Amino acid sequence: MNAEIIAIGSELLTPFHQDTNSLFITEKLNTLGVEVTFKSVVGDSRANLVSVARIALARTDIVIFMGGLGPTEDDLTRESVSEAMRLPLKRDPDLLADLYARFAARRIKMPENNQRQADVLDGAASLPNAKGTAPGQWIDGQYEGRDKFVMLLPGPPYELKPMFEEQCLPRLREKLPPLFIATRTLKVAMMGEGECDSRSAPIYRKYERVQTTVLFKHGEVQLHLRGRASTALEAQDMVEKLAEELEDELGDHVFSTAGESLEQIVGYFLQMRTATLAVAESCTGGLFSQRITSIPGSSRYFLGGVVSYDDEIKKLLVGVPPMLIKEHGAVSKPVAQALAEGIRRKCNSTLGVGITGIAGPGGATDEKPVGLVFIAVTDGRVTDVVERQFPGDRERIRWFASQLALDMVRRKLL
Ligand code: ATP
Ligand code: MG
Repeated sequence: MNAEIIAIGSELLTPFHQDTNSLFITEKLNTLGVEVTFKSVVGDSRANLVSVARIALARTDIVIFMGGLGPTEDDLTRESVSEAMRLPLKRDPDLLADLYARFAARRIKMPENNQRQADVLDGAASLPNAKGTAPGQWIDGQYEGRDKFVMLLPGPPYELKPMFEEQCLPRLREKLPPLFIATRTLKVAMMGEGECDSRSAPIYRKYERVQTTVLFKHGEVQLHLRGRASTALEAQDMVEKLAEELEDELGDHVFSTAGESLEQIVGYFLQMRTATLAVAESCTGGLFSQRITSIPGSSRYFLGGVVSYDDEIKKLLVGVPPMLIKEHGAVSKPVAQALAEGIRRKCNSTLGVGITGIAGPGGATDEKPVGLVFIAVTDGRVTDVVERQFPGDRERIRWFASQLALDMVRRKLL
């Protein structure tokens, strides 16, 4: 079964407020096997609200409205849903008494407007609000002859969350057939989104009950798998099988199957091999070291290194022969190699990494455009050197360079 969430409030259409409630609700619905297929944000306008409500009710089984249940003129959710569903509003005397009692307890006279908060859609169950004055509503009814579950919830997160969790979820759980969702994320390094998708699509298309999304994020391709089945085991099994088939196809490009980052995986591998690492990085300015050391416990395998930005530092601290820089330029294959080999010698590490490139926007020449990067990884016997031309701005180029360097270390340890 699918759900649609409608966030109401003009403030949510400004740059200053975000609809975060829907993230909470989505997470909870997913635990019941319910997928959210649409989300909308609507301002405090009755006409717009009615129109969006009709569209949602016509296409989705579960419709959740949140916000606009307050006592003020711009709180229009009750009236709008009443108009869209053709269910009259009835003032509930018990709710009204309860509202008066709440105000009396605080020794405040209840404003006339607050009476509207006792209006309930015909056939709806009222949901008590422990944290505020606006009760929610639950409707197990019909729209254009089809069964619907409709919820009206208050906007403030501290009111909505307990109401949804304690009153709506148990009702839904009781009404819905059991359905379980299993998820898995595969992360793929150094392969374009297009290539990754064209190689994976023939495989994931065979799995109709697993939804596969391919995302390009932080210089890596992520394949998000979501399987739905009537038992947890079956859902898990489907997702595992698909993950295995995808891994077979994509080979050692897949670096993680349980959500780990590339720096985490590199850390595992280094520890497993009781190997150590040192780096001489130029265009990444410390980003490589930063990523490696963001992992707790990295002191067990990362010795350190040099941000050898200036040519003199490359010579002085890393031992790059001056002739190499003179002949080939600082951004070159031989210098990347000398950086990796030099820093490995100086630090006495198992592996050495050298990174040099042009991050831009300035510094390009005819032969050496912005984005040109050389990366070397050595184990003292064999030095791998890779030349790449990365697209994008300074930040992206530096990130891609650190990503490639990490992936080369990973491959060296495979
Ligand atoms: P009520 O139904 O209780 O009147 P409301 O949404 O009409 O709720 P508002 O005064 O508009 O009341 O909002 C109360 C607070 O809740 C505001 O800070 C608002 O930003 C926040 N809020 C409303 N909707 C959301 C949402 N979808 N996600 C996160 N915060 C929200
Ligand atoms: Mg509002």
